[in-house]
Amino acid sequence: MLASSDGDLLPRSIWMLPEGHSWPRTSGVTLLGDAAHLMSPFAGEGANLAMIDGADLASAIIAHPNDIERAFAAYEATMFPRAREAAAASAAGLELAFEPNAPQAMLDFFTPKG
Ligand SMILES: Cc1cc2nc3c(=O)[nH]c(=O)nc-3n(C[C@H](O)[C@H](O)[C@H](O)COP(=O)(O)OP(=O)(O)OC[C@H]3O[C@@H](n4cnc5c(N)ncnc54)[C@H](O)[C@@H]3O)c2cc1C
Repeated sequence: MLASSDGDLLPRSIWMLPEGHSWPRTSGVTLLGDAAHLMSPFAGEGANLAMIDGADLASAIIAHPNDIERAFAAYEATMFPRAREAAAASAAGLELAFEPNAPQAMLDFFTPKG
């Protein structure tokens, strides 16, 4: 694809938060999506996480309509471990993509076995 393209190649930096990033419960505020758990795209989960974060946060607010702090705490208790798991998968995918024989490991990953 790159060889057949006639546009310029524009390298862009990929940024990520540390795996397992979290913060102490902070009154009146929470984060979701990339703001909460930015990771490299090598797990293909960032948009999925952003959507499930939004759904979980909405559910928590509905479950605790008169106690937003309890809603935020319930949401974060679900969101942090889920984000940690995806960030670990993303880190493993990053290794796979840039290992010394790249892209061989990635090709092996996508090659059906047997
Ligand atoms: C190369 C690449 C490939 C990817 N592939 C996948 C994939 O296959 N599957 C997957 O699930 N995810 C993938 N992702 C990750 C996914 O794109 C993100 O995780 C997802 O878009 C995060 O959504 P978000 O709403 O949290 O943040 P964003 O999509 O970044 O939305 C934040 C929005 O806020 C706006 N904004 C910022 N500052 C302000 C401000 N001060 N005022 C008003 N607006 C503001 C921004 O312009 C932006 O529109 C990929 C990401 C990259 C970079």
